[in-house]
Amino acid sequence: MKQLRNYIAGEWHLSKTTDYLDVINPATNDVLAEVPLSLASDLDQAVTMASEAFTAWRRVPPTERIQYLFKLKTLLEEHRDEIAKTITVECGKTLKESEGELQRAIENVEVACGIPILMQGVNSEDIAQGIDEIMIRQPLGVVGIIAPFNFPAMIPFWFFPYAIACGNTCIIKPSEKVPQTMQRITELIHQTGLPAGVVNLVHGSKTVVDALLDHPTVKAISFVGSSPVARYIYSRAAETGKRVQCQGGAKNPVVILPDADLEMTTRIVADSAFGCAGQRCLAASLAITVGSVKADFTDAMVSAAQQRVVGNGLDDGVQMGAVINQGSCDRIQTLIQKGIDEGGNLLVDGRDPQIPGHEQGNFIRPTLLQDIPLQGDVATTEIFGPVLGLLHANTLDDAITLVNQSRWGNMACLFTNSGAAARKFRYEAAAGNIGINIGVAAPMAFFPFSGWKESFYGDLHGQSQHAVEFFTQTKVVVERWPKEWSRQF
Ligand code: NAD
Repeated sequence: MKQLRNYIAGEWHLSKTTDYLDVINPATNDVLAEVPLSLASDLDQAVTMASEAFTAWRRVPPTERIQYLFKLKTLLEEHRDEIAKTITVECGKTLKESEGELQRAIENVEVACGIPILMQGVNSEDIAQGIDEIMIRQPLGVVGIIAPFNFPAMIPFWFFPYAIACGNTCIIKPSEKVPQTMQRITELIHQTGLPAGVVNLVHGSKTVVDALLDHPTVKAISFVGSSPVARYIYSRAAETGKRVQCQGGAKNPVVILPDADLEMTTRIVADSAFGCAGQRCLAASLAITVGSVKADFTDAMVSAAQQRVVGNGLDDGVQMGAVINQGSCDRIQTLIQKGIDEGGNLLVDGRDPQIPGHEQGNFIRPTLLQDIPLQGDVATTEIFGPVLGLLHANTLDDAITLVNQSRWGNMACLFTNSGAAARKFRYEAAAGNIGINIGVAAPMAFFPFSGWKESFYGDLHGQSQHAVEFFTQTKVVVERWPKEWSRQF
């Protein structure tokens, strides 16, 4: 069985651990590889090498640093099919979803190639007579990036291209559930000729994360994952004085007004709720109908849920793949039962489906639960599976109140034909990513991924100018050059 290795200072190292975890294909439960649950000593070695590399890397001009990113973009494009297949095989999503994910990763490389402009400072001449003040941006040092399982390629790219383009060196800790994608991408990073130690990859789980959080040489932590872990990482990293950004979980509402285009809305909401088998932090998980649209939208969603083609993400025509593992399958099915126990009306039951040829896979079909209690577990818990709760409100105001009661704030969407309703929603909805007639309001690489409330801990988000600010510290220089000194010139 293939044993994955850590990438430290430009070389592949076997971890010193004896503890390995199976990496599985969620569609078949076949074992694909073994990932090391690395030790704190592996992490310490990576940090030491990254710290040594920082001394030289920060002196490489930004215009030269980005040349490696241009090469990486080309290599990612050349290996697009292969990487997409790797994502699908270890993560379960469809090939089309994997290709879309990789495209989003590449777009972050493109934006980070703008670093020579993005990290420019500002200056003010003559803040007093003969005195100038400038602000420059400098890298932090070694930074750590901790990623979740659901976007194995894209999420590390919300951070590391910006981090290294700004002159930092980094340690990437991919999810132990999907380690092969970043392993392959790291091989491509190696091919760019990037100096050793600038990007390092350390596999593992809590032990490595804790070592990263506690390491005095690590200056900043970027995390994406569930909210309880996000909160834990935010506070533990802050204890050692690090800069931290933690993107957490979600429970995303979409509001449907009677004037919405029903056919388009149903298609988009179904794609949002069931795409990636509901394992997206921007998946619609609560649909709130307003006024007279309830019956028509409900009927249309029932039929969309029933018709969705579920199967192995590698197969043609499949619209929804498996969920990540058996534990996840069990958790989702338990929450569906909880919804029924809480008084919800199970309109479409996706539990225990038979997927011919994939009887061992971790499949759940799209599920619809209507009229679940607002304070119940299903309405308030992130299910992270293909389960959509249907709620109803009499007015847009009531729907916005429901949206804003949530402790989450990753995304909220409105479906309408009315500009006034759209503006009101955009203005009043308490979430950081808003969609108007959009089901997955994923910010492009040149915008910040703006979660709010318990969906985000920190102030600067991933991607865009936010990432540049996160990975640089400002230095202000005040200079006096008295007039009389220039008489000689
Ligand atoms: P997770 O929180 O279980 O794991 C994320 C990372 O943290 C992994 O690398 C894991 O090894 C590590 N980790 C897990 N438990 C830990 C612990 N106790 N101590 C230290 N480290 C720990 O998340 P997941 O299941 O991999 O991913 C799904 C979650 O990520 C969902 O909640 C989803 O909403 C969220 N997510 C959020 C965004 C966003 O932008 N807000 C994007 C994608 C996913």
